Amino acid sequence: MNRVIIFDTTLRDGEQAPGFSMNTMEKLEMARQLARLNVDVIEAGFPISSEEDFEATREVARQVGTLENAPIICGLSRVGLGDIDRCWEAVRHARRARIHTFVATSDIHLKYKLRKSRAEVMKAAVEAVRHARGYCEDVEFSPEDASRSDFDYMCDVLSAVIDAGAGTINIPDTVGYAIPAEWAERIARIQEKVPGSDRVVLSVHCHNDLGQAVANSLTAIVHGARQVECTINGIGERAGNASLEEIVMALRTRKDFFGMETRVRSEEIFKTSRLLSHITGIHVQPNKAVVGENAFAHEAGIHQDGVLKEKLTYEIMRPEDIGRPSNKLVLGKHSGRHALAARLKDLGFDLAGGDLDRAFRAFKDLADRKKEVYDEDLIAIVTDEATQTEAVYQLDYLHVISGTGVIPSATVRLRKEGQVFQDSGVGDGPVDAVLAAIDAITGLKGRLQDYALRAATGGKDAIGEVGVKVDFDGTVVSGRGASTDVIEASARAYLSALNRLVQPAGRRVRDVGP
Ligand SMILES: [Zn+2]
Repeated sequence: MNRVIIFDTTLRDGEQAPGFSMNTMEKLEMARQLARLNVDVIEAGFPISSEEDFEATREVARQVGTLENAPIICGLSRVGLGDIDRCWEAVRHARRARIHTFVATSDIHLKYKLRKSRAEVMKAAVEAVRHARGYCEDVEFSPEDASRSDFDYMCDVLSAVIDAGAGTINIPDTVGYAIPAEWAERIARIQEKVPGSDRVVLSVHCHNDLGQAVANSLTAIVHGARQVECTINGIGERAGNASLEEIVMALRTRKDFFGMETRVRSEEIFKTSRLLSHITGIHVQPNKAVVGENAFAHEAGIHQDGVLKEKLTYEIMRPEDIGRPSNKLVLGKHSGRHALAARLKDLGFDLAGGDLDRAFRAFKDLADRKKEVYDEDLIAIVTDEATQTEAVYQLDYLHVISGTGVIPSATVRLRKEGQVFQDSGVGDGPVDAVLAAIDAITGLKGRLQDYALRAATGGKDAIGEVGVKVDFDGTVVSGRGASTDVIEASARAYLSALNRLVQPAGRRVRDVGP
């Protein structure tokens, strides 16, 4: 088989990293885009971990997993039989569902986390896979912390779960400890040592703690792995997971070397990456491979002369291969509803009725302030509209006095459940003053941990997108806001974080998973 299965875990491993949590609406929006990207498997969540994660996984299975040619919808589960029941309950709505069950096999995890013997863990793994197979054909098993597990013991577990009916065996480098040459040898040895491994799909799940996640995933493919688990923009626990876009584009650009294919529609990569940034409020670094602002040669001044003469001097990939828009003028003040709907459809957003009305109002509002409305502006508007839950606090009015020689002050009016509240604040700068005014209204004191401002497009009248991470008395939530006025964008970002705080995701179980 010369095809690599792309297993996306943005909504599970990626989402559980601090600051990246997504609500059900946001997960759904992301899942729809992952389906357009044409990944093979979407790991939608860890249903036992919380009521909200269960609901989000179930809705992804129901609303995305039932589409024509939908990806397999997968849920993560520990080996407890009750956990597996709950996982199945969430994913069973999909046309093709998968249960992914895991248990640690390293002595350090056995001793300190599970407090179980090797024999007990082996038995639990086999029972879990059998139980899951009672529900569905497609069962995946991961020995967590594989890279630090005793090799012979881990192989015994793998061969037992294959006998029990697991169809995919996933080898995770849970702590990002592996080095490519060593990892390649381990992957090759697993296939020699585990009876039945030729009957199943061998998968890897690599973390990036030492910056080796993509390298480890690619070397595993060379040595027989046919599924890689990865995330958009490489998000995930700690330093993140292997990045989907880097793996896909490496396989594509260096097909001469790998001789492998994926089903991914690479022209959807850029949009998927930006959608995730909009949803989480966290932008990718400019020098990020494939999707960063500076990733293509034509943007880096030093090479421009060479690029103008012949693109291939410095470009090994073309921006259009990942669907990167050229930011050409698309719409303006006089564009109508139909033009907007048509352009949005080209961008992959099929809006109608009330959704289109809201997007059109936001577009008109923007076009009044900004002469030229670019694709990226539209994406910013629509993802904001589509993924915001019913906000508890809404911005009604904002007035700021700032300048040299005055103390910045702000007056803010917020709407909450039909009522209007107003207060004012002063600060070191206009943003600080606005946040002080909001805190005065809500009575909640937020401490800004992170603040990032980015222009969505070029030009002096560009939309400013603000992403914030706010610490409210020990609970860290992220938020995002967009406006041509950066002070307003900051206020919106802060309010969106606040709205997440007052409608919390409420995790009950905290287990990291593979
Ligand atoms: Zn992981």
